[in-house]
Amino acid sequence: MEKVLIVGGGAGGLILANSLDLDQYDVTVVDKEAEHYYQPWYLYVAFKGSKRKISRPISKLLKPGIRFVRDTIKEIDLDNKKAYGSYEVIYPYDHIIVATGTSPDPNVIPGLSQIYNQVGDFHSNLQNSRKLWNSVKNFKGGNIVFGMASPVCKCPPSPIEGVLLLEEYLNKKGLRSKTKITYFTPYPRAYPAEPMNRIVEPMLKERGIEVMPFFDLDMVDTENRKIKSIEGDELNYDLPIIIPPCKGTKIKFRQDVKDEDGFIKADKYTMRIKGYDDAYAVGDVNNLPTSKTGVTAHLEAKVVANLIQGIYDKFTGRINCPFDMGYGKATFVIADYENPVVEYPPSRTKHFMKMSMARIYWLTLKGYMDPVFDFYFEFTNPRKLNEKYNKTNPPKASSQPQ
Ligand SMILES: Cc1cc2nc3c(=O)[nH]c(=O)nc-3n(C[C@H](O)[C@H](O)[C@H](O)COP(=O)(O)OP(=O)(O)OC[C@H]3O[C@@H](n4cnc5c(N)ncnc54)[C@H](O)[C@@H]3O)c2cc1C
Repeated sequence: MEKVLIVGGGAGGLILANSLDLDQYDVTVVDKEAEHYYQPWYLYVAFKGSKRKISRPISKLLKPGIRFVRDTIKEIDLDNKKAYGSYEVIYPYDHIIVATGTSPDPNVIPGLSQIYNQVGDFHSNLQNSRKLWNSVKNFKGGNIVFGMASPVCKCPPSPIEGVLLLEEYLNKKGLRSKTKITYFTPYPRAYPAEPMNRIVEPMLKERGIEVMPFFDLDMVDTENRKIKSIEGDELNYDLPIIIPPCKGTKIKFRQDVKDEDGFIKADKYTMRIKGYDDAYAVGDVNNLPTSKTGVTAHLEAKVVANLIQGIYDKFTGRINCPFDMGYGKATFVIADYENPVVEYPPSRTKHFMKMSMARIYWLTLKGYMDPVFDFYFEFTNPRKLNEKYNKTNPPKASSQPQ
């Protein structure tokens, strides 16, 4: 039997492992952690104090017959088809899939690690999301600066979701009139994709949230409680909520397959690591020109499972990111390689769908929801939705961020 080695038992790695024919392939998943976390819920931990259980043991999320090993992969030799774990354990393989996600690195920006340790953040892990909830809960009014420290981040809507949920919380707590909120972003507008920005910017204005575009975070001056941008702007803060820059994998490759931020260079249709037919990078860890989301990891994993099993398939670049806008309304950021983001109006139904995902996520990982998703993805085809909703100045897909 051919050996398939999957490094990373997160959204992408689990879906891929569970999609393979176990009568034909000997599948091993290696992860440095024992538990898998539903990361989208970090928002509700950090801004609503949710105590929902959001993790499950990785071993329980795999179909019977798939081997799970808890280990950290340190090095991969693609030419000799070997991965190296801790204590000199060697994992030989016929096919390898690297699905190690991305992790925020606060050390890249001077002063940011202090904020990260003291205030918390809502992108790294459950512990830091709880820390941020404590900071939010203890806030009594003043200046909040809120934003992302680099253009690359998991789930492009999540920074705006965070600031909208925070505004809702402060409003309900009676602190809104005592608080100034400034949202900073390295992009030229609040939401990077123009059609979605046509919904987002008026909403931020209506809720009194100021937007500071072209703000590339350069340093945090913790002594004087200021953040400074490369462009020379400064913002004072009482509470800084900052998403640290996202970095790719720390795994050392014996071949030159990573970009300068540690993301793996992969083909945008097949997720094959450039130059290798038997090695793939799935999910947040690859450098594909699409958003880093669980849905993307899911769809990429399905394509790679087909390719390994000799079935022709191609990733379309589809994204479908749920976007909570606070006060019980949500929308979805929908696009693919060919079609720009849809100007998709928010509604209560979409909010209900976003909330339901937290329940059905665990079934999705095992493939039990595949027929429902196949129907949904066709029903929300980006080309058809663009024809219906993007009536004003439709932008070209290739020139649009997501
Ligand atoms: C606040 C927030 C909100 C979000 N909202 C949404 C949303 O609404 N919809 C959506 O689709 N996505 C959302 N996302 C993004 C989504 O969670 C990620 O894109 C998704 O989890 C990526 O899956 P992955 O498999 O690439 O990586 P992950 O799920 O992060 O898994 C990577 C795994 O690799 C393991 N690993 C790493 N390095 C090693 C190593 N060297 N050796 C062994 N194991 C290793 C890790 O322990 C981890 O288990 C959100 C993310 C955040 C932070």
